[in-house]
Amino acid sequence: MKISRFTMNPFGMNCYILWSAPGGECIVIDPGMMLDSEREMISSFIDGNKLTVKHILLTHCHIDHACGAKWLAQRYGVEIEAGADEAVIAQSMPLQAQRFGLKIDSTPLSIDNTLAEGDIITLAGEDIKVLETPGHSPGSLSFYFPDSEVVVTGDVIFQSSIGRTDLPGGSFSQLIDVIKTKILTLPTDTVIAPGHGDTTTVGDEKIYNPYI
Ligand SMILES: [Zn+2]
Repeated sequence: MKISRFTMNPFGMNCYILWSAPGGECIVIDPGMMLDSEREMISSFIDGNKLTVKHILLTHCHIDHACGAKWLAQRYGVEIEAGADEAVIAQSMPLQAQRFGLKIDSTPLSIDNTLAEGDIITLAGEDIKVLETPGHSPGSLSFYFPDSEVVVTGDVIFQSSIGRTDLPGGSFSQLIDVIKTKILTLPTDTVIAPGHGDTTTVGDEKIYNPYI
């Protein structure tokens, strides 16, 4: 599976498109497009590679990760999927825009299909396992691809850092527990593809992450 990263919006958020070949299917994780140019970047990649969008997955519903979801869902006729405990956060999109001083379209977001621990999504014959990883946000999910040895974590863990826990529904102790039990227990060579910044590995974070 190919994993293409698109960094966008004032928060430098990483949107990922998973795909295998031109003309095939794809999954978009965290469409945080805020500008026309960012929407154009994503749609031209999808359309240019003649990809069929099968899933729109949200690691969580903070505005920098989710604000382009409704536009993408409408354009490609696909459901928005996220953790059940993100519903309130998704509905608070206008409040989030206000909190961060963003002058963008910020109508409440509805989750069409909720995902939970153990759910498996497939793309081009490869399994994607849903992990519940709350702490940064109450319904945070991570998406683990065992065959490709990659986990997309949203704002759970970053290179030498972790997600903030001061936003509604956050919990520092829960986040640390989740990182130790759900992420750092994955095989050492697993690549962590975070919501902000560069990729890292489970092995490197075990050694270098000062929060663990
Ligand atoms: Zn976040």
